[in-house]
Amino acid sequence: MSGREDVLVVGGGVVGACVAAALAERGAAVTLLEREPEVCPPESAVFANCGLLVPSEVEPLAHPGALGQGLRWMLDTTSPFYVRPRVSLALMRWLWLFRSACAPEAAQAHARVLFELSAASAALHDALAADGGEAWHYRRNGWLAVYETAQGMDAAAAQAARLQTLGVPSEVLSAADVRQRVPQVRPGSVVGGVLTPEDGHMDPAAFTRAMASRAERAGATIATGAEVYGFASGGPGAVRGVRTTRGDFVADQVVLAAGAWTAALAGQLGLRLPIEPAKGYSIDLARPAGLPDTPICVGEPHVVLTPLGDRLRLGSTLELSGWDLRIRPRRLTHLRRAAARVLGIAEDAPAGQVWRGPRPLTPDGLPVIGRSPRHPNVVFATGHCMLGLSLGPVTGKLVAELCAGETPSHDLEPLRVDRFAL
Ligand SMILES: Cc1cc2nc3c(=O)[nH]c(=O)nc-3n(C[C@H](O)[C@H](O)[C@H](O)COP(=O)(O)OP(=O)(O)OC[C@H]3O[C@@H](n4cnc5c(N)ncnc54)[C@H](O)[C@@H]3O)c2cc1C
Repeated sequence: MSGREDVLVVGGGVVGACVAAALAERGAAVTLLEREPEVCPPESAVFANCGLLVPSEVEPLAHPGALGQGLRWMLDTTSPFYVRPRVSLALMRWLWLFRSACAPEAAQAHARVLFELSAASAALHDALAADGGEAWHYRRNGWLAVYETAQGMDAAAAQAARLQTLGVPSEVLSAADVRQRVPQVRPGSVVGGVLTPEDGHMDPAAFTRAMASRAERAGATIATGAEVYGFASGGPGAVRGVRTTRGDFVADQVVLAAGAWTAALAGQLGLRLPIEPAKGYSIDLARPAGLPDTPICVGEPHVVLTPLGDRLRLGSTLELSGWDLRIRPRRLTHLRRAAARVLGIAEDAPAGQVWRGPRPLTPDGLPVIGRSPRHPNVVFATGHCMLGLSLGPVTGKLVAELCAGETPSHDLEPLRVDRFAL
């Protein structure tokens, strides 16, 4: 970067913080705008997410078979994936695009894209963690999925074999192997597991704040309490800056990294970005004594148990309820029951924190990274679905390359904004 480009980054979640750090470290004059009083606020999708760095998690939500399973789960409020029935043209359009993305060739192509991005991002995470990763509890010691039924185990072993062909290493484990690794797993509760040794985990809020601090150290300004509500036109096909609750900010380029809220900002630019807020939950409990430092996923109900210091975070579930962010106690019960069955944690164990956040969910499971088709000085960095923490660093790098006018280090064609008819 020539040194004096001005870039505004909208959104102080994990993607915005990584983008701001990458831009500032290349010498750009950057201002990061966050609506809430702090970066990584509880309202963001990253605040208390499951903390997984998962280069193994490359099979998108939209894959062959997902529709049938989704339909069965759709009306069950305790299922891992729930769509609240409602009349919404945006949701209908999203589901239609999701259906197309479930075609085998499409899903395979998307998995390859995610694999390449995830592998690159994991290497960047390692490099970032080499400079203070203990502050965000960075670990790269695998992820263990365990299964309670033979059917679940068979499907997981088949998926592991599929992913091996992409280059994702894994180890299929017997129930005895699982208990040897995690003695706290209740006898007879699981039939086996799959370990993906290259995965990792971290404290997502501590990581995001560390990236914002990196950006500041490199000269970026962080403006909190600044909600972007509009754009200042810079003549045909350009924006001159943004209008915020703290006044107008002007820049050569604007990066939209406002997570699930980006769709509304895109709407102001005349673009219909199909991103749905996909509500997920987490509960922090006391970590059982001696529980190893490897996150566990209870496979069939899709519940993740992540050890973070003296806490154990129970997380996941995916609820398409639009912007209804109410906490549904049944979804919390779903998390607690999985932890009770597998680790014997009392269902009423006191919670240190209960949280929910809106993942920015695209229909094809791929993020949106690229220039706006109508406003070349606006760059989108959003739609990271369930992988925003994993993919934050590579997104920062790609956006910094784009803003500097360089050829991006990954093919951005599959991630472009106008891959959905806008
Ligand atoms: C339960 C759960 C578990 C998850 N687990 C994982 C995991 O283990 N690993 C993983 O990689 N990912 C995980 N995710 C997904 C991950 O959290 C998201 O993909 C990620 O947070 C998206 O990052 P983002 O920066 O785009 O959006 P967000 O983190 O939501 O940040 C967006 C920010 O923009 C701000 N903003 C919004 N509108 C405006 C505006 N108009 N003006 C200014 N600021 C604005 C918001 O306040 C917010 O701070 C999980 C998500 C959930 C909900």
